[in-house]
Amino acid sequence: PRTRRWCFADQLGPHFLDRPDQPVLLVESRAVFTRRRFHRQKAHLVLSALRHRVAELGDQAEFHQVGTYGEALDRVREPLSVCAPTSWGSRDMVLRRPGVEVLAARGFVTGQPDFAAWAAGRSRRGGGAGGRQSRLLMEDFYRDARRRHDVLMDGAQPVGGRWNLDEENRQPPPADGRSPAPVPWWPEEDGIDEEVRADLDRWEAAGDVSFVGDDGPRLFPVTHREALHRLRDFLGNRLGAFGPHEDAMLRDERWLAHSLLSPALNLGLLDPVDVVTGAEQRYRDSVTDGDPLPLNSVEGFVRQVMGWRDYIWHMYWHLGRDFRTRNHLGATQQVPGWLGGLDDDAVDAACLSDVLGDLRRDGWVHHIPRLMVLGNYALQRGIDPSAMTDWFHESFVDGYEWVMVANVVGMSQHADGGVLATKPYASGGAYIDRMSDYCGGCRYDPRKRLGEDACPFTAGYWAFLDRTRDRLAGNHRMRRPLQGLDRLEDLPAVVEQERLRGTEPP
Ligand code: SF4
Repeated sequence: PRTRRWCFADQLGPHFLDRPDQPVLLVESRAVFTRRRFHRQKAHLVLSALRHRVAELGDQAEFHQVGTYGEALDRVREPLSVCAPTSWGSRDMVLRRPGVEVLAARGFVTGQPDFAAWAAGRSRRGGGAGGRQSRLLMEDFYRDARRRHDVLMDGAQPVGGRWNLDEENRQPPPADGRSPAPVPWWPEEDGIDEEVRADLDRWEAAGDVSFVGDDGPRLFPVTHREALHRLRDFLGNRLGAFGPHEDAMLRDERWLAHSLLSPALNLGLLDPVDVVTGAEQRYRDSVTDGDPLPLNSVEGFVRQVMGWRDYIWHMYWHLGRDFRTRNHLGATQQVPGWLGGLDDDAVDAACLSDVLGDLRRDGWVHHIPRLMVLGNYALQRGIDPSAMTDWFHESFVDGYEWVMVANVVGMSQHADGGVLATKPYASGGAYIDRMSDYCGGCRYDPRKRLGEDACPFTAGYWAFLDRTRDRLAGNHRMRRPLQGLDRLEDLPAVVEQERLRGTEPP
C-alpha cells in the first residue's frame, strides 16, 4: 500500500513532501490549545496555516479535527511516514506509534548528520585554552555551514574578506525616530481566517481554552505563497536597511527593517535554503547592477537564518532533554501575573511597557526587546528559566519548544552556566538608553540606581550581580563587572530596594 506523509502543523511547506501529489495526513488537535495559554494570534496563525494547507491539498489530504493525535492516528488505514518532528515530546509520540516511518528532519539548512560530524570534530580536537573541551560556538558552526553550503563565498574566502560584519550592525536607532525601511507587505485575511476566528471565539466562550493577547488582523503568512510574497518584499525593499539598526528599538516603529519571516519559517512554510539563496542572489544581482546592497545587512541576515536559527535547533537536540531544567543561577521566582497576562498598562517603565504592549498587540517583537528587555528583566529578577521558556513559547507567534529552550534557558537566562553564551545577557538602563528612544519619556532615570526614580534595569543589574556573584565568580568575562560591584558604597541599599520591588510591575 502507498505511504501517506503525516505533516505536523509546523511542517506545512512543499519541502516536507517527496513529490507534489503525495497523499498527506494533517491533524488538528484541540488538546494542544487546552493545555497551554497561547497568544490569541498564535493560535489563529497555526490553525489558519493548517486549514489553508488542507484547502490547498484538496483530495490529496486526509484531515482530522480531533481532541488528541492518537484519535486521528487510530482512524488512518495506510502506512505513514513523517519527517522527524521538532520537539522531544512529539518525537517520543511518533516513535511510540508502531508502523510510522520516521525520516530525517527537514526545514533547516544544515542536516543533523552534518551537525553531528561538526560537533564530533570539535570534541575530538578538544584541548582549547586551559585544556578544556572545545566549545560548540555558533560563530564556528556558522562559518563551517557557509563553507559547506557555499553561501556568500568567493572560493575559500568569505565575500568581502570577513566572516562577520556584526560590529557595523550595532548602531543606535535613526536619530529622526523613523524606520530605516519602508513598511512591510501585509497579508490579507480570507474566509478560512473568519472560520478560525469564529472557532476560537466559540472555544473560549465555552471555557475550553483561554488566550492572552489581542485578537487582531493576521500579520504573518499562512501559506507558502504568502510566505514567498513576504520574502520577496523583504529582499526587494528591506534587506539593504536590515543591518545597521537591527539591534535598535523605537517606540513608534516596531518593525524597523526586520524580515518578519520567523513565523513562516517555523511553521515550515518556507525552506530556509530558499531564503538564504534568495538573499545571496539579491546581493549578487545588486553588485552586477552597480548598486550593491550593504554587505553587513546581507551577511547579518544570512547569519540569522543559517547561523543562529540552525544552531539553536541543533543545540536543542545536542544538549538533550534535561537541558530545559538547568538552573545554574538558582532562579525560582514565578512569572508574575502582569507579565504572564501581557498587561502593559500595569507597567510604568517605558521600555518594558512598550515592548509588552507590542507583544500583546502583535504576538511578536524583534530579538533585542526579547533579549535585552523581557529576558533581561526575568534574568535580573530571578524568574524560573523553565517557566520563562513556556512563557516565550506561548506568547510569541514564532515560539516553539525547540526554539525557546536553547534561546531562553541558554542564551537569555544563563541557566546553563555558559554553554551557549559566554556571559549572562544582563545589562543596566544605559544599554537600553543607547539603543532606543525609551528613556527620555520614562518616569525612571537610567543613570540612577537608588531612589524613587531609580531605573529598575540599572538597579536590577547590580542587585542581580550581588545575588549571583558566587555562581558567576569563575567566569572571567564577569570579573570586571563583579569588581565594579565591590566599589558601590550604596550596594546594600540598592539590594534592599530591589528586594522590596521584587517582581511587582516596575
Ligand atoms: Fe527602561 Fe530604565 Fe530607560 Fe525607563 S529609564 S525606559 S525603565 S531603561
